[in-house]
Amino acid sequence: MSEPVIAYLAQERDAILDRLKALIRIPSISTDPAFAPDMQSARDFLLARLRDAGLTDAQQLEGDGQPAVFASWTGAPGKPTLIVYGHYDVQPADPLELWATPPFEPTERNGRLYGRGASDVKGSTTIAIETVAAFLKITGGCPVNIKLFLEGEEESGSPSLRSIVTRHRDLLAADALLSADGGRASTTIPTVGVGGRGITALEISLRTAAKDGHSGRYGGAARNAVREMAALLASLHDDQGRIQVAGFGDDALPITNTMRAAAAALPFDEAQWYADFGGLPWGDPADTVRERTTLRPTIEVNGMWGGYTGAGTKTVLPAGNYPPRGIG
Ligand SMILES: [Zn+2]
Repeated sequence: MSEPVIAYLAQERDAILDRLKALIRIPSISTDPAFAPDMQSARDFLLARLRDAGLTDAQQLEGDGQPAVFASWTGAPGKPTLIVYGHYDVQPADPLELWATPPFEPTERNGRLYGRGASDVKGSTTIAIETVAAFLKITGGCPVNIKLFLEGEEESGSPSLRSIVTRHRDLLAADALLSADGGRASTTIPTVGVGGRGITALEISLRTAAKDGHSGRYGGAARNAVREMAALLASLHDDQGRIQVAGFGDDALPITNTMRAAAAALPFDEAQWYADFGGLPWGDPADTVRERTTLRPTIEVNGMWGGYTGAGTKTVLPAGNYPPRGIG
């Protein structure tokens, strides 16, 4: 059933690419109010395409902020309903001087398309829309009922996603959700991710004295807050990267042989993976790198500050791992 659809998509490649480029040219930056007209342009562009593709119910879903774009095709009674998530907003493009070509002028280089949002996530959103469009055009329908939900605030923390979903609960009802966002495991093998790691963020403050001291006067005889924080953070793992926090991950899903087999099924070169970003190996040697990055929970330090971090040096004995309140 899907072969003629795939053939049609291949034949339409240039037209699809042109539509993706047109979408990338719209600077739909959700976090900056100056781009509000462009956000509307992006919604209008998508609504027109969805209607043209034969989806029904194409509309903006209002919440407390940037509306989402919605459309559906529900011509498969008795079949499940799949809702596909994408987003039409992008992150700000600065620093502009680091772009080889203008961020909102999509440019093809070495078989890749460069432009703000080309990857995250106008490209994958376009794939979702164009795949549904091709099914409707070639076979007159989709194998399942389809709803498309394209958010406008993903890159600014989804502040009104909850209000949109609450207000349009019935319209958004579905049996399963497929996200067009997120990385793909391979550029050549079609993959579907069936889970992702969530995140809990903590900020830890630590104080060892009432005020910063002079390291020449107090050093060697008083606790240094930055050193204590480094020791505390280092105690989260052993020196190979096994997490040492009691109880951490105890309620995580147990890893089954099926999960390990799925993680191993995709070609993956560990050495090349490290070489690609110049990274150093870390983590429990009992798990493969793929398992460590997809199946296991992790504890990461995202930032650390304290003491003096400006130009030159300063003989400070930090009292806390946060901007000092003045030296005593
Ligand atoms: Zn995204």
